[in-house]
Amino acid sequence: MNIEKKLDQIMKEIPQNVTLVAVTKHRSIEEIQRVVDYGIKDLGENRVQELLDKYDKIKGDIRWHLIGHLQTNKVKYIIDKVDLIHSVDSVKLAKEINTQAKKHGRIMRVLIQVNVSMEDSKFGIEVEEVESFLQQISHESNISVVGFMTMAPFTENIEETRHIFRKMHEIYDKIKDNQDAFKNVNIETLSMGMTNDYPIAIEEGSNLVRIGRGIFV
Ligand SMILES: *Cc1c(COP(=O)(O)O)cnc(C)c1O
Repeated sequence: MNIEKKLDQIMKEIPQNVTLVAVTKHRSIEEIQRVVDYGIKDLGENRVQELLDKYDKIKGDIRWHLIGHLQTNKVKYIIDKVDLIHSVDSVKLAKEINTQAKKHGRIMRVLIQVNVSMEDSKFGIEVEEVESFLQQISHESNISVVGFMTMAPFTENIEETRHIFRKMHEIYDKIKDNQDAFKNVNIETLSMGMTNDYPIAIEEGSNLVRIGRGIFV
């Protein structure tokens, strides 16, 4: 099946309030351009270098998302290029994003990556740490925490991922209901669901899915 047909199918499946981020890692400029020409505005890369390599080559009205682990020393390369960073998982990283954003006179929108499952992935803060984390970064006035991102471990039985997404949604709601307690928190985005598990993630409250293989393979 070709890219446009796959996009047709995915766009039919996901509700209107859910943003599709097309994950373009390892894909050619030609393939990515087809996605943009189809009308997808949000593109996600998990590596800084790959994002930089593609940034000027893809033409269109694009919002770039940095979805993978971000090293502190690389923030400066992407700060003026991305619309949303999904993977804030340390105070040190948040502070560096704030410093660089300030230099560029912008407020950087970020998501906090939470490691709900405590398996597989070594990235993300723990569920119990979320509130103290938000408190620790609440004086960084050039970042705006707009939500959370999580990844479920890969499993054959995707029903097993449901409790992870449900737990993440509970935390999202809890913080959203209480966001006035924090200075720079404006909760609106819940980034969860990839090719394997996005239907379940949406059932459990995701409003942004990150899909790569489902579009390109
Ligand atoms: C690669 C990647 C995705 C997309 O995964 P697919 O299985 O190709 O849909 C989503 N999120 C992150 C953080 C990724 O690195």
